[in-house]
Amino acid sequence: MNIHVEDLHYTYPGGEEALRGISLEIAAGEQVAMVGQNGSGKTTLVKHFNGLLQPTRGQVRIGSLETRAVSVARLAANVGYVFQNPDEQLFCKTVGEEVAFGPRNLGFAPEKVAVLTARALELTELGDRAASNPYDLSPTWRKMVALASILSMDTAIVVLDEPTTGQDSASVARIARTVDALRAQGKTVVAITHDIDFAAENFARVIALGEGRVLLDGPAAEVLGQEEVLAQT
Ligand code: ADP
Repeated sequence: MNIHVEDLHYTYPGGEEALRGISLEIAAGEQVAMVGQNGSGKTTLVKHFNGLLQPTRGQVRIGSLETRAVSVARLAANVGYVFQNPDEQLFCKTVGEEVAFGPRNLGFAPEKVAVLTARALELTELGDRAASNPYDLSPTWRKMVALASILSMDTAIVVLDEPTTGQDSASVARIARTVDALRAQGKTVVAITHDIDFAAENFARVIALGEGRVLLDGPAAEVLGQEEVLAQT
């Protein structure tokens, strides 16, 4: 399922022009890192992928779905969004319930929910913590719970908002393995990140935003090598 963004403009109700004409295409199965300084529009852009925000002008299509024309629920079956702060996302009493919630909510049969939940717990190495209360876990592991609770929905597209921020090296390696596994499954991954090493090591393509526009878009080495342009952002 590809992501098609065409001349996207977005102005917040307060008048802040966050996106100023973004056009890009992300093919099904591509892994893309999105970089750029704070306030460059990264989060605003990805929130258009699952319909959390609607274009002020221009359009966004997820496969054949124009985001303005379909419900957020319909988009949620196709685009998973892992929040930067897991505490905005977690609300169940156990890790297992949390991870099973999404696929159950999508209406999958119980057997499928069980398989997807087990697979997501295994991928995130949470298998032996399924009975724990997410809030008894460290913030590092809570982040893995938030990730697992999106992976279990088996969406074609997974958006990760600052996945490595505040994570120790073991957790960063775990997240990198998850991105690898998603690649092997043919999933599209879009990760907002400040972590240049993480971007370089795990993503073939990097898009750099600045002031609501695409500054650079291409192979990771090429984009991340343009330090002068990136420094301006
Ligand atoms: P990034 O993710 O790259 O840090 P954002 O998409 O969060 O950038 O922000 C882009 C611009 O939109 C910034 O100028 C920011 O201040 C503004 N902005 C973000 N969220 C809101 C909001 N809820 N209301 C008003 N302005 C916002």
